Amino acid sequence: DSFEALGVAAPLLQLLNDKMRISKPTRVQKMSIPTLLGAQNDVFVHAQTGSGKTLAFLLPILTRILAMDERVDRQSGCFAMIITPTRELASQIYSVMLALTQCCHYLVPCLLIGGERKKSEKARLRKGCNFIVGTPGRILDHIENTQVIKEQLASTLRYLVLDEGDKLMELGFEETLTKIISFIHEVPIDHSRFPQLPKRIVHTMCSATLKGSV
Ligand code: AMP
Repeated sequence: DSFEALGVAAPLLQLLNDKMRISKPTRVQKMSIPTLLGAQNDVFVHAQTGSGKTLAFLLPILTRILAMDERVDRQSGCFAMIITPTRELASQIYSVMLALTQCCHYLVPCLLIGGERKKSEKARLRKGCNFIVGTPGRILDHIENTQVIKEQLASTLRYLVLDEGDKLMELGFEETLTKIISFIHEVPIDHSRFPQLPKRIVHTMCSATLKGSV
């Protein structure tokens, strides 16, 4: 009944304990952390907002990346993309990501939510990032118009998280998501790079309801 027993990496345990004051995993975390740590397949996380679902998917993804033998930095490529229905939710997840990467400053997240920020988003993508958190329309906009995102994603992406999948569907993002997903699958994974990561892209769908699928 601890994050350690669930297999979370030591540097993250220290952060959870000392900085975030989080000591015991929630029910959703107990179920999804071991599943995602071992995942070679797609995972469905049935969870409401407030259940601790953000850490339920971020901790295992970060743990797998921290466990690699290779030295990685922001230029190594993007390992995970988290898509949310709203800017607010994306910003919240990004803040948690920023807090967690305090243990590993060489890993850099990037927030893609649009508004007036397109130029700074592009600049950040150009410098390199390991995690993309954003809303569907803005992510697709960059995929279609920012050459560098293709280089960031090509062959390194291993985790795609659709957060609040039910809401993504309700809000009519299905077509945009289909385009993003088909772009992501255009470039095959280079298995010689990061062989300790999953061999294929692990799709994780979080949803408060059981309906909806991608
Ligand atoms: P979420 O469902 O991801 O939006 O998380 C809801 C809130 O619960 C956030 O403020 C988290 O910091 C907090 N939280 C997440 N996991 C835990 C935990 N294991 N123990 C206590 N609080 C937590």
